Amino acid sequence: MIDLSVVVPVYNEEGNLGLLHQRLTAVMHTLGVTYEFVFINDGSRDGSVPLLYELAAQDPQHVRFIDLSRNFGHQIAVSAGLDHARGQAIVIIDADLQDPPETIVDLYRKMESGFEVVYARRNRRQGESWFKLVTARWFYRILRKITTIEIPVDTGDFRIIDSKVADVLRRMPERDKFLRGQIAWIGFRQTFVMYDRHERHAGQTGYTFRKMLHFALNGITGFSDVPLKIVTYFGVAVSLISMLVGIFALYSRFITRDYVPGWASTIVSVLFIGGIQMISIGIIGEYLSRMNSNLRQRPLYIVRDTNCEISENTDASA
Ligand code: UDP
Ligand code: MG
Repeated sequence: MIDLSVVVPVYNEEGNLGLLHQRLTAVMHTLGVTYEFVFINDGSRDGSVPLLYELAAQDPQHVRFIDLSRNFGHQIAVSAGLDHARGQAIVIIDADLQDPPETIVDLYRKMESGFEVVYARRNRRQGESWFKLVTARWFYRILRKITTIEIPVDTGDFRIIDSKVADVLRRMPERDKFLRGQIAWIGFRQTFVMYDRHERHAGQTGYTFRKMLHFALNGITGFSDVPLKIVTYFGVAVSLISMLVGIFALYSRFITRDYVPGWASTIVSVLFIGGIQMISIGIIGEYLSRMNSNLRQRPLYIVRDTNCEISENTDASA
């Protein structure tokens, strides 16, 4: 059994892989553990793939790669890595060196003191856009309010988990992965260490606005029904208000006979109710589309090539 697996999702990271491998290796030597690196190529369009083959040839003892058939997205790439990782403990880390590999020493030591999950919590973030910082901050605080599980704020997926936790993750069937929520939901003894998040070493972010939005919606729909309840409350509130308005309209038409042909009020209320209805249908649609994709039962990802000996369905002891 290997002590430690390091799972690294890779999407257009040619400028980072060499240095990442070097720094990770140094960290493993500091720790003095047996280890493997599991690199998942998530449909890179740059030179990442040849580089991964090169690393695997140079360091065949430790470098495993999984080459996915296309870009499946960060969370699925990490899930593929977890499916193939064999370590007693597993670290999830970004390839762009924003998460300093040296922090793994702290994560590992903290775990040794009796925890199954140790996540890395950011002190400060360098070189990220104002927009990303503000949206991330609000997203995590809102998510915390509307879910019943404790999803830690100011953390990404950079963390170490015990193989027991990874086993549970592998058995969780949902397709819309939101790993930090799932790990929080699983429980066990969890704690954190602080670290400084750095700037991306080379290349640029693979998280487009669309991917961020999709990710955020997965977090919300996967762990909260509050948006659906809000829709219901809104519906009730709007109907109550319109009933009062209706009574008032009848009253002014027939009792006081003091009324003006109200074009403005009509158009405003029609637009308002129309808007609410569309948002509500949209929210319901988000949940429905996720149910639908879970029902289709397609494979979560497709592997083009790998040098991992075991896949998710084979017996590790074989
Ligand atoms: N990534 C991936 N698939 C994607 C987007 C990103 O595997 O579709 C990887 C990327 O190579 C990196 C990690 O996920 O290792 C975090 O992505 P990125 O640095 O682009 O996100 P950010 O740090 O800007 O949130
Ligand atoms: Mg990054």
